[in-house]
Amino acid sequence: MPILLLVAGLLCVGVLSAQTVSTTVVNSIQPDWIAPHIRFLASDLLEGRETTKRGLRLAADYVAAQFETLGLEPAAAEGFVLRMPMRHSTVEGTPTLVIEANGTRRELVYGTDFLVQPDLARESVTLDGPLVFVGFGVSFPAHGYDDYAGIDARGKIVVLLPGGPEKIPSDERGHGTLFATKEATARAHGAVGVVTLMPVPAALLHERVFRQLVGYSWRARDGSPNTLFFEHAATPRLTGTGTAALFELAGRSLAEVLVKLHQGTPQSFDFPVRLAFGSRFRQVDTASWNTAGVIRGSDPALRDEYVVYSAHMDHVGMGAPVNGDSVHHGALDNAGGTATLIAMARAFASLPTPPRRSVMFVAVSGEEKGILGSDYFVRHAPVPVGQIVANVNMDNYLMLAQVKDLAAYGASYSTLDDVVRKSLGQLGVALSPDAAPEQMIFTRSDHYPFMRRGIPAVMLFNGQQSGDKGRDGSTMLRQWLGNVHHTPRDTYEQGIDWGAGVSYAKANFLIGYEVASATERPRWKGNYFFMERPAVP
Ligand SMILES: [Zn+2]
Repeated sequence: MPILLLVAGLLCVGVLSAQTVSTTVVNSIQPDWIAPHIRFLASDLLEGRETTKRGLRLAADYVAAQFETLGLEPAAAEGFVLRMPMRHSTVEGTPTLVIEANGTRRELVYGTDFLVQPDLARESVTLDGPLVFVGFGVSFPAHGYDDYAGIDARGKIVVLLPGGPEKIPSDERGHGTLFATKEATARAHGAVGVVTLMPVPAALLHERVFRQLVGYSWRARDGSPNTLFFEHAATPRLTGTGTAALFELAGRSLAEVLVKLHQGTPQSFDFPVRLAFGSRFRQVDTASWNTAGVIRGSDPALRDEYVVYSAHMDHVGMGAPVNGDSVHHGALDNAGGTATLIAMARAFASLPTPPRRSVMFVAVSGEEKGILGSDYFVRHAPVPVGQIVANVNMDNYLMLAQVKDLAAYGASYSTLDDVVRKSLGQLGVALSPDAAPEQMIFTRSDHYPFMRRGIPAVMLFNGQQSGDKGRDGSTMLRQWLGNVHHTPRDTYEQGIDWGAGVSYAKANFLIGYEVASATERPRWKGNYFFMERPAVP
């Protein structure tokens, strides 16, 4: 192999700058470091790699085999494949939901007018109380926005819409509008329950959200279920017809409310409606797996510190067929990131001398179920969490056109910003701002749990120039997210640009290599809204 010969030849010279070594390895990255892994992981055999299912376990073992072949050490005594205890909760029977106002009673139909986010802990749930509408159900005191201002939610069931006001910066909006955050905010205001309005057709909601995402949590050692994305308690979700029925009964116009909310004016008021809801649930304790391997650092003073590369290997399983294909292949989401993770391990393994710090490579699961695998990983890390100096996450990068620029989610909050600039500069790739702020991508991937725990992180993603002559980056991104994302169309055959895959891999390698080689670990620039505790030094 040319790279091994070249590296061996260079070794004889004896004196090498870190820059030369990294450049040599960077130049050796080829499409075949990535493509075959995507082909396998996105194949029918893996059945969409759904968390807790057989296809995911095959993916976990495949990644482990790659790590072992490359000479990595298992990240824990357990081996490369680390078990994650989970719980899956589903609705049992037919939930009931009745709304009543001024003597008029409407019984909503389960599966048509409403769906239910399952309760993670209780087998039977009833809700009964007056309703209060709280807009998006969010508070952003730093921006002078509070949906709960002047509203008494005590003893009531709050009714809210997903998302948040557009005037709140995208990252902060993502953090403050997670379902779990809204649930906690409602509880803090004394509410007894939450009802979410999702005014779209039930069939769409069922296929794109419910079948794919809901009812999962990881289990702590004491058995308690944990999520950071979805609610813990049962939450009715009213569809388009259910929402219309509720507003009609309340004598309110949803359209008016939506216009004002989108203008940034809070819309909160008592609904003259009472709601009674009942549902049963069945919880099954189950498990999934994260695969993690390590390349030991070369500096005795720094080798107990870690740079962690991550990519989620799970996808959303099998679903409604499109053109006869029911496998959600998840080639770019995120066989691409997983393949790039394996390429990162290969690049670090091919260095003549490992970098000063250790480098850990982790393929996580449960991302599609609410970023569960990475959250579990940082809370049960195989090494002390304070020794993880940075996370470089790879998810859903659209390798569809030549890379002219990249966006770097999360980097601006820490000195990783400088590392990203330097690394992209070396490749002649520009650093772009967020190409789709409305997507709130900052809270939608595995770097986010690391950042919540105080670990500086970055995720490179498509920028504003797509490199595709017909479309700018934002258009390419939005079209793909609208037409291909989480459908059986995300295939190996969709026209992947392997040059883009290589450029993306090179950029990720340079960032991690720089952090793993530097004397100083990355530092936060301040204490930020997303941190659960003060930043580690
Ligand atoms: Zn996804």
